[in-house]
Amino acid sequence: MYYIGVDLGGTTIKVGLVDENYQIIESISGPTKRERAQEEVLKDMAMLCKEVMAKRNLSEKDIHSIGIGSPGIASPTEGIILSSSNLNFNHVNVRSEIQKYIHLDVYVENDANCAALGEVMSGAAKGQKNVVVVTLGTGVGGGIILDGKIYRGSFCGAGEIGHLVIKFDGGQPCGCGRKGCWEQYASATALIREAKAIAKVHPETQILALAKDKEVDHINAKNVFDAAQRGDVFALEVLDTYYRNIACGVTNLINILEPNMIVLGGGMSAQKEYLTDPVTKYVKEEMYGGLQLKTQIKAATLGNDAGIIGAALLGTTL
Ligand SMILES: [Zn+2]
Repeated sequence: MYYIGVDLGGTTIKVGLVDENYQIIESISGPTKRERAQEEVLKDMAMLCKEVMAKRNLSEKDIHSIGIGSPGIASPTEGIILSSSNLNFNHVNVRSEIQKYIHLDVYVENDANCAALGEVMSGAAKGQKNVVVVTLGTGVGGGIILDGKIYRGSFCGAGEIGHLVIKFDGGQPCGCGRKGCWEQYASATALIREAKAIAKVHPETQILALAKDKEVDHINAKNVFDAAQRGDVFALEVLDTYYRNIACGVTNLINILEPNMIVLGGGMSAQKEYLTDPVTKYVKEEMYGGLQLKTQIKAATLGNDAGIIGAALLGTTL
């Protein structure tokens, strides 16, 4: 049996064929061109699904179901994208559109939730029941898996863990309308913001030496980690604060949910133990009542494949 997973992004539609070992064995992509009518975007998606099946000479009877990960809020059981500002989709019945072209079960789900499910089914948290996957990227997203299933909340909007407030007074303003959200301190964007600030005051930092054209505006997250590896005190200082900020939110999640594992994903997961070791150290220090930390903290292993694998397997976990 095979599964089709779709990552419906604002720019690109990526489709993957997933085998019974939960590996992507074929993939294909096309432009979303989101300015078009929704029906046309979804028709293209259906055609990409057909193409990926044709690559292995598969027919509908070989495919368990199609799962689609989308930004925004979706109702997986109804197959509807309820709202997605990134795509300009509002209450769109994705299932009925796709089923005009392919006669398979179709499920839709928030893309961060799909990535979390992917890590649990086949990545860093394989075999774990209760897991929170935290995506540290441009923002901070996440997905909560409880008892092997995505926890969606009562109205399909749960898991917005980037908007836990960690600095109530005088915190950085956030796109969500609040101030001091975790995302403003634990995202790659936040790390870069702090690195740029220190490079302006201390231009002797290795962070600046490693940046493209030695320009403050070109500093990226990798420059900070690389400078720290060289022993640059400014990079070490910025990263130490960054790790503490991540640990603060992770400890909050552990206090609420006590999962078996927290997986740190997104672009930052490439740092592996350079990220998870210091975060684990600070979480241990902050544990409730000085309790022993039992929750494992690991880096994600599937990278960008997590979303497609998780989407593909949606139909097996509902
Ligand atoms: Zn926020």
